[in-house]
Amino acid sequence: MDYREVNHRKNDNPQLYESLKALPKIELHRHLEGSLRLSTLADIAREHQLDLPGYAVEDFRHLVQMVPEDEPDANVFISKFFTLRNFYQSPEIIDRIAYETVADAAAENIVYMELRFTPIALAREKEYAMSDAADWVIKAVDRAEADFGIDVRLIVSMNRHESVELGDEMVDIAIKNMDRGIVAIDLAGSENKFPGKPFEHVFAKARAAGLSITSHAGEWAGPESVLEAINVLGATRLGHGVRIVEDLDVVRLAQDRDITFEVCLSSNILSGVVDSLDNHPFRDLYAMGLRTTLNTDDPSVQGVNLTDEFVAASVEMGYSLDILKEQVINAAEAAFLPDDERQALLTRLQAEFYPESAEAPAESGS
Ligand SMILES: [Zn+2]
Repeated sequence: MDYREVNHRKNDNPQLYESLKALPKIELHRHLEGSLRLSTLADIAREHQLDLPGYAVEDFRHLVQMVPEDEPDANVFISKFFTLRNFYQSPEIIDRIAYETVADAAAENIVYMELRFTPIALAREKEYAMSDAADWVIKAVDRAEADFGIDVRLIVSMNRHESVELGDEMVDIAIKNMDRGIVAIDLAGSENKFPGKPFEHVFAKARAAGLSITSHAGEWAGPESVLEAINVLGATRLGHGVRIVEDLDVVRLAQDRDITFEVCLSSNILSGVVDSLDNHPFRDLYAMGLRTTLNTDDPSVQGVNLTDEFVAASVEMGYSLDILKEQVINAAEAAFLPDDERQALLTRLQAEFYPESAEAPAESGS
């Protein structure tokens, strides 16, 4: 399967697409900086006269999105984000992209989303304070939640290939904004070249303050990276984590620690982690009873949305509707929410997915 197939799921399976779009869904792993509408990028490019081959989407698509000519490769994938950093030209733009990202999620019936963002990525081009960039994101997300009836929490993501000092500063911003919807921190970036160990004290500080931990691991590096994320960083959820299947001892550790896997199917294909959905380790993770969830990662860079990922799991991997619902329930169980809010989310989903069993207690009580 290549990019073109990913992008054409809606056309190939219109009925299934619409029914899975209507299914209430949860997104635990989506990057704000990978969720930008291309039409918005065209507006920004034109208004700010950005240095691009042209200002129509087709003039610059290949610079901000994986296209058929691209080799499936981590460096090619990451290169898109370096181009995207040029687009963060004003506070209004940061507000707009955060607002639109939430709007787009609500439009495909994502009822709860944990949106991660990288303050330094948004702040660097115009040398904004990272705390200001975070503030603009928080306010835009608040507005969008109210306007579109979706529940959103935020995760502050830092890159391993950038300095620990920057990461430390981002954790302080996360801690300061815990009462405004920031619930966790994340480590992303070039996993194959940069270990997480230097960030140990930064993650310890976040945990001590009550933030939850997720980390990209087992994506572009192997099980040793997963082990580090769990044991050194204290991650309870893994971004991807799929290469854990290369070491059964680490699999057992993940089972013992009740780790949740934020699986992103098309991302793994486009960044060269796996060559096809037939060979995707999601199958193994699921078969081994690990807690899996389905996510997008970077919808606009990949040219997909969460509904596309569900269609792929259904059509190309053969998973039933019940198993897809199970992934949504798993995501609710792994949400970085207080117990009462997580339970309310679970109850709501159970009632929507299985209305008959929701009525059962009332019958047995009569
Ligand atoms: Zn990611």
